[in-house]
Amino acid sequence: MATNTLLLLPGDGIGPEIMAEVKEIIALLNGRGLTDFATDEGLVGGSAYDAHGAAISEADMAKALSADAVLFGAVGGPKWDGVPYDVRPEAGLLRLRKDLGLFANLRPAICYPALADASSLKREVVEGLDILIVRELTGGVYFGEPKEIVTLENGQKRAVDTQLYTTSEIERIARVAFDLARARGRKVASAEKRNVMKSGVLWNQVVTKIGKEEYADVALEHVLADNCAMQLVRWPKQYDVIVCDNLFGDILSDVAAMLTGSLGMLPSASLGAPDAATGKRKALYEPVHGSAPDIAGKGIANPIAMIASFAMALRYSFGLIDLSDKLDAAIAAVLGKGLRTRDIGKDGDTLVSTKEMGAAIREEF
Ligand code: ATP
Ligand code: MG
Repeated sequence: MATNTLLLLPGDGIGPEIMAEVKEIIALLNGRGLTDFATDEGLVGGSAYDAHGAAISEADMAKALSADAVLFGAVGGPKWDGVPYDVRPEAGLLRLRKDLGLFANLRPAICYPALADASSLKREVVEGLDILIVRELTGGVYFGEPKEIVTLENGQKRAVDTQLYTTSEIERIARVAFDLARARGRKVASAEKRNVMKSGVLWNQVVTKIGKEEYADVALEHVLADNCAMQLVRWPKQYDVIVCDNLFGDILSDVAAMLTGSLGMLPSASLGAPDAATGKRKALYEPVHGSAPDIAGKGIANPIAMIASFAMALRYSFGLIDLSDKLDAAIAAVLGKGLRTRDIGKDGDTLVSTKEMGAAIREEF
């Protein structure tokens, strides 16, 4: 019996091409006896719609619910622009997030030395950057009720969104951030706007309490979210882990991504609550980039974000920290040697294919 189960959902566009490189790595790990992964595969997004008329079938949802972790490629593309809203490709990912209860979104922003010149900031500001944004993913203004546009008697319209957080929602995301900080630089910055928002006041109070009572060994700093955005472009290396709500996290993680100069190289993880019996969290790992329909099928997509997402799975779902570190180091090494796919190449670089990049990383691994 395999000890660890992984559901692979390659999805659409370049998804299958980049997932193929992860499959090779899994085969290598299992082959060397370093892991005992059992993988299963399913359809999501447009490919699921074509096969079943749904963005993900019930059978594949059931597989996702029982797997230790889900690896997700990317969904969507012009082919499915006209499909009904409920079954549009993105609905597959939203369903997975909701049914797996994935409330914590982890977005690392790592600047590989070999690519530091691709950042819009100066090399010394970003070189060696390694920060982690922890975004609350299932609450806040994205989901709070009321959420509506109402026509008033005078013909004007009024739009309402509700920023809503409860103590327990803030506690659980704070614990994720503090736990992660413990395994890294032991620093958490909590970003909110307590100066203008009640939810910011509560966020600040709850994070402070959890920090004091449960994580005295982790340094906690509070920062207003707007100032945090400014600090991220001024001197990002001051941060280790940043924890914030759904909306601020959406913005701050995109800011952090651009610091690295390579949006197409970034992985992400989304985690659920620990299971009461086993302590294991539901989890989904995916590249930050999309399905890149413009280059799909050409064999030139960069597989690094997908491979780095698998490295996050090794770390956060399976506790295989050494292997995860080794895989990250292999990525840094091939970049150091000058290997470039088209998206990260400059004029004069010799470009490699998806398969060549994957093979080079396995070679280093
Ligand atoms: P989504 O809405 O799903 O985020 P998008 O169309 O906004 O998708 P991407 O699919 O990420 O964005 O593509 C944006 C651009 O980046 C495209 O030109 C695409 O070819 C390129 N790109 C994205 N990911 C990669 C990758 N892994 N390798 C090479 N190029 C990529
Ligand atoms: Mg898009």
